[in-house]
Amino acid sequence: MTEQAEMMAHLPTQMKAWQVTTPGPIDGPQSPLELVTKPVPQPGPGETLVRILACGVCHTDLHVSEGDLPVHHAHVTPGHEIIGEVVGNGPQTNRFKLGERIGVPWLRWTCGVCRYCRSGRENLCPHSLYTGWDHDGGYAQYVTVPEGFAYRIPERFDSVTAAPLLCAGIIGYRAFERANVPAGGTLGLYGFGGSAHITAQIAIDQGIQVHVFTRGKDAQKFGLQLGAASAQGAYDPSPVKLDSAIMFAPVGDMVPNELANLAKGGTLALAGIHLSDIPALNYQDHIFHEKNLTSVESNTRRDGEEFLTLADRLDIHPATTPYAFEKADEALRFVKQGDIKGACVLRIGED
Ligand SMILES: [Zn+2]
Ligand SMILES: [Zn+2]
Repeated sequence: MTEQAEMMAHLPTQMKAWQVTTPGPIDGPQSPLELVTKPVPQPGPGETLVRILACGVCHTDLHVSEGDLPVHHAHVTPGHEIIGEVVGNGPQTNRFKLGERIGVPWLRWTCGVCRYCRSGRENLCPHSLYTGWDHDGGYAQYVTVPEGFAYRIPERFDSVTAAPLLCAGIIGYRAFERANVPAGGTLGLYGFGGSAHITAQIAIDQGIQVHVFTRGKDAQKFGLQLGAASAQGAYDPSPVKLDSAIMFAPVGDMVPNELANLAKGGTLALAGIHLSDIPALNYQDHIFHEKNLTSVESNTRRDGEEFLTLADRLDIHPATTPYAFEKADEALRFVKQGDIKGACVLRIGED
């Protein structure tokens, strides 16, 4: 028996997993999530089987649970900031060795042949699939991943600390790139949760002046501790005109103020996958003077590799609040309240 066959033979056949049973408010009378027993997934050709050590709790999981993003298959298991250990490989799969620690992100698969995939923009692939939306994710004990879409995790990060890097970190990095911050420029961050506090560190480490806008008093304080130049309410005027801004909150009402706070020629990047309606804009106050408004859609694998290398070199420190696996719904309610210091992470296997 090969080492692989022996290891796979010792795996359990059943596992615990959360699933979205009835999408609806996480703080309503009936939780949309349910903890169930499911079969351990089998890795297909090109897929790796991962025993999960930790999984971050992302705002997108809240959108999937509450129905803002309709589930792509019934009873999907959410979670796409997964750190785990390789315990099996499907046929024709050899990128990772058994026992290696890898990360499973949001972007699960792209077609590789469409015009977006062929021009370095696989994040726009119309056939793309996502972990914890199209396919079962990380609020579980095991998950499979197409080997080409997983990442090696730098050793300096323990699994709980590494988890938020995989979506909050990578998406924040792409948003930061899309926001075109000039060297030594000013950057506004609207909403200050898992993604923003990592992006703030990347920006401040490169000599960019960061201004934080968020309703949470603790989050404002946390921004200042990380080295932000100022912190204020989400709808406040900025103390200085901003070259660039990134919006992490899913609140369209904030957009006019964000545009008004931009300097001439500035760029606002909307980082969320879901945004409530943007109110009517005034051309003179919000758009004129060559202001740029862009959204950010997912990320490419190249963004992910660049970000993880940078996070390792700059010694980025995601702040985490660990939760027991059995308390995933409680963690999501906490995320909804919005006044989090860093990111919530479910502890699943032993590290
Ligand atoms: Zn494609
Ligand atoms: Zn996410």
